[in-house]
Amino acid sequence: MLTLKPKKMSKPDDAGSVKTSRARPALSGDTPVQYVKGVGPRRAQLLERLGIKTLEDILHYFPWRYEDRKNLKKISDLTYGSLETTAGQVVSSKIISTRRRGMKIFELLVTDNTGFLRCKWFNQPYMEKYFSKGQQVILSGTVKGMPSLRAGAKLVSLSSEFEMENPDFEHLENGDKFVHTSRIVPVYRATEGFTPKQLRTLMFNTVKAHSSVIKEYMPAEVLERNGLMSLSRAIEEIHFPEEVDDAGALNRGKSPAHRRLVFDEFFLLELGLALMKKKEVLEKGICFQDDGQMVKRFIKELPFKLTNAQKRVFDQIRDDMKRDAPMNRLVHGDVGCGKTIVALLSMLVAVDNGYQSCMMAPTELLAEQHYINIHRMVEPIGLNVVLLTSGSKAKPIEEISGGRAHIIIGTHSLIQEQLKFKKLGLAVIDEQHKFGVVQRANLRKKGFNPDILIMTATPIPRTLALTLYGDLDISLIDELPSGRKPVTTKVFFPSQKDRVYEQMNKELSKGRQIYIVYPLIEGSEKLDLKNAVEGAEAFKKIFPSKRISLVHGKIRQEEREVIMDSFKAGDVDLLVATTVIEVGVDVPNASVMLIVHAERFGLAQLHQLRGRIGRGGYESYCMLMAYPPFSEEARRRLKATESTSDGFKIAEEDLEIRGPGEFFGTRQSGIPDLKVANIIRDVKVLEAARKDAFALVDAIALKDHPLLGNALQRKWQGRLELIKS
Ligand code: ADP
Ligand code: MG
Repeated sequence: MLTLKPKKMSKPDDAGSVKTSRARPALSGDTPVQYVKGVGPRRAQLLERLGIKTLEDILHYFPWRYEDRKNLKKISDLTYGSLETTAGQVVSSKIISTRRRGMKIFELLVTDNTGFLRCKWFNQPYMEKYFSKGQQVILSGTVKGMPSLRAGAKLVSLSSEFEMENPDFEHLENGDKFVHTSRIVPVYRATEGFTPKQLRTLMFNTVKAHSSVIKEYMPAEVLERNGLMSLSRAIEEIHFPEEVDDAGALNRGKSPAHRRLVFDEFFLLELGLALMKKKEVLEKGICFQDDGQMVKRFIKELPFKLTNAQKRVFDQIRDDMKRDAPMNRLVHGDVGCGKTIVALLSMLVAVDNGYQSCMMAPTELLAEQHYINIHRMVEPIGLNVVLLTSGSKAKPIEEISGGRAHIIIGTHSLIQEQLKFKKLGLAVIDEQHKFGVVQRANLRKKGFNPDILIMTATPIPRTLALTLYGDLDISLIDELPSGRKPVTTKVFFPSQKDRVYEQMNKELSKGRQIYIVYPLIEGSEKLDLKNAVEGAEAFKKIFPSKRISLVHGKIRQEEREVIMDSFKAGDVDLLVATTVIEVGVDVPNASVMLIVHAERFGLAQLHQLRGRIGRGGYESYCMLMAYPPFSEEARRRLKATESTSDGFKIAEEDLEIRGPGEFFGTRQSGIPDLKVANIIRDVKVLEAARKDAFALVDAIALKDHPLLGNALQRKWQGRLELIKS
């Protein structure tokens, strides 16, 4: 890795503040950061905490914001109430003890001959040692001051005084000028052992001396077509902008340098996905024949007719399954559109052809719920459905390996090493964004390239589909079964309890049924929240004449099934539950969903829970009981749930609220992190990068572009085994 061969001399540095006194060995991108001038072993350790190990890493440690210090404001020009940066000379400093016990204020007075700036730091007496009289300092913070001075500011210019509390500061020394001021300066997230200024100095020297170790890997025609600058130039510009003089644009991630780096992140991501897709297309999978009797019989016996969207999507799946390349298809559509039936039909195609099918769910409860529904539907036609969870005994495992199990429902335990299928033909993944490319690959190894069908609980915004699922074909069920009524959703606060009970009473008296969902099963010492067990008791007192049942994850599965059955049969009026009822529960007579502590639930979860009602053609009500105080994010989630029931809008809002990073859970999904790019802000660049990446994979062999191959490996960190081939 380390290339310390002293055969090449480094170029003489052209940056004024970097002076190399003796010949240094040439560094490469892989050189440990320790050997970069100004780092050393101790700082290298500190930098490692930021994920910086090599020279290349440190060049990729980008500023998180920029400050315009081209024209530092004169003190007399500062504006009250705004965030400003100014410079001046230290006049005096002192520590003041206030009357409030123990409170010490460090006060610094600075002037630039147009006015005075008084800076205060609270309870940080050690600040004193950072300043001495006559020093030049830069300060930035929000400007405060006495309003009475504002009116006469001009008249009393020298005595007019501005204040900043806890401002950021830097000292200026001779020669510093062009790194820390007189320009747009980058601000790096500091870390222990570095002041922002020290970090900036290090970055400046490193970028100036070593940006040339960054080798261009992008094919020239891609650069040209997209009007992109060279990579090393982009790295220089993103750290110390020369060409862009609008700090605002830089802070919004809108500069040619940003564009290049964003493009690269997307391009390498999409290229990896394109390669996976290409590899899969070239591989041989199972050629299923036309489906036999089972599918026909099953469709005939369904109590309803498939929607056109369901038929269309099932046809797409069937075509994929007949082809000899392995299927990789994603089905999405809003809550209640009937994805499960489509998945089940596809599983029957495989079974009809003498293969096994499995369905993998993200949690044990969801797996169980699918198991309950599916075994009921297909056992009448003679199929053996098996549930496999982490606690499963030997019997189901034998049935799977022996081939007696036709349909297997399970959790991650389906991809465990030891489990052998007799003849796996189709794997369905019910995923809710929790399964990634890596797990998919593991599942595929369980059979001889089985077909893979992925279902997501909620629809996905297009941008997300392009990034996260760029290697998949996508089907959308864009139609709900007829007879669904829109649900009225409203947020309530504890003081409005009576209105909630009144509404519930009204519905109960019409013979409707009600779900009440809690975030917790039982009381918890850590969280002061209402819980299902106590909630059930409380509701027995509120509705003494009604039949109330309780269901949650700690109740044994068989017992849970009995409870759910009696709710379904109408023998229970109010079902108090946890999120066990999030999916798969279907009781058309239920018209109210009360979610207690709605502020605690995720947006997709709220939407999913709401999807349990409005299935029977009755007016239905989703009541979100929220307990303040709650975060701004929680407020946005509640508002979004209240204002739309369109799954696409919900998903987009969710993406916006949670931010792309968290929404993906990229580590789980197995795709590389996005550091500069933002899939909402940069969607245009994403589309361009995707187009070129897919075109490139079709047109060339990667072995003709070794540098690009390296960049790809680095980005995907070994998760793309296929690149070698
Ligand atoms: P999703 O998983 O897409 O949220 P489900 O597959 O759970 O939706 O389907 C919701 C409910 O609608 C189920 O009870 C299912 O039996 C029913 N259903 C599915 N397809 C139809 C249809 N074409 N007509 C009427 N009801 C349907
Ligand atoms: Mg196939």
